[in-house]
Amino acid sequence: MASSIGRRFASRTARQLRFYSTASPGVRSLGVVGAGQMGLGIALVAAQKANVPVTLVDASQAALDKGISFAEKLLAKDVSKQRITQDQADSARSLLRPTTSISELGGVDFVIEAIPEIPHLKFKIFGDLAQICPPHAILATNTSSISITKIAAATTKDPKDMSASSRVVSTHFMNPVPVQKGVEIISGLQTSKQTLDTAVEFCKQMGKIPSVSADAPGFLANRILMPYINEAVICLETGVGDRDAIDAIMKNGTNVPMGPLQLADFIGLDTCLAIMKVLHTETGDSKYRPSVLLGKMVDAGWLGKKSGKGFYDY
Ligand code: NAD
Repeated sequence: MASSIGRRFASRTARQLRFYSTASPGVRSLGVVGAGQMGLGIALVAAQKANVPVTLVDASQAALDKGISFAEKLLAKDVSKQRITQDQADSARSLLRPTTSISELGGVDFVIEAIPEIPHLKFKIFGDLAQICPPHAILATNTSSISITKIAAATTKDPKDMSASSRVVSTHFMNPVPVQKGVEIISGLQTSKQTLDTAVEFCKQMGKIPSVSADAPGFLANRILMPYINEAVICLETGVGDRDAIDAIMKNGTNVPMGPLQLADFIGLDTCLAIMKVLHTETGDSKYRPSVLLGKMVDAGWLGKKSGKGFYDY
């Protein structure tokens, strides 16, 4: 008798598992919040590679206009270099839908936030996304350094209610998104396995190579990269070498495509400073102290390529 109940239970569980796996919605539409250098790249690659419609939200109409015109330039360049056909470019462009209204994310299956690296802004957006997006939607962040557990906690006032926090994960794309293959996938304490698996699968659909890492300050990529950049700025600040010597020795001596100071300009000096501050405060370890010069350059508004001036002029 017991074994027949056991068999019935086992077969019902197997049926349910089959039902859940086929009913589990694939990612048929994407929302991206923030149309800056990362958000725009993520939206474009999702349209091109995963072939999904992308609702691209930014608080600024000017940022959306600039982003869409940049996407059109990138697509035209791909056509002129015969990497894609005109039809493929037109199809990718038609999948991008820019808007200033976050409430238009009410129908998406997956959303990726790429607004500035400012904790209270991210926490507010995730509280909003939990209300606006459908109950099955994955809520991903592109944060470079903010704890995924903290971002997930911001989705609810009741920590026992994990209906939204279990759907929060990080998909940390690398810059420039159309070029860099790697993406870091990070779970918070609340993230469910299904959320993690969906994020890994969707990043693969976008043609990326995911690496899974833990929710620790800086995760993997920035834990290693940012102290390297910060040390290069300290070398400049203390006169160990000038800008060109620092970049040249690393470029020519370690076969990287650009030196650390130029790379910092490309990433954005404000982003580099914000990440160093997180590493420093979260670990309490003085080895992560941000360079004074880096802080001064951010105070001056010299943020690198995006502001036209950093260690180099653009
Ligand atoms: P960015 O400054 O280029 O773009 C941010 C965009 O967000 C801007 O267009 C801004 O108008 C918009 N925005 C600001 N507040 C908003 C809001 N409340 N709602 C909607 N839009 C809003 O920044 P970025 O370099 O693209 O970085 C975005 C995120 O990606 C950050 O968390 C950053 O740490 C991370 N990241 C950056 C890099 C990099 O190399 N730049 C690499 C990996 C991850």
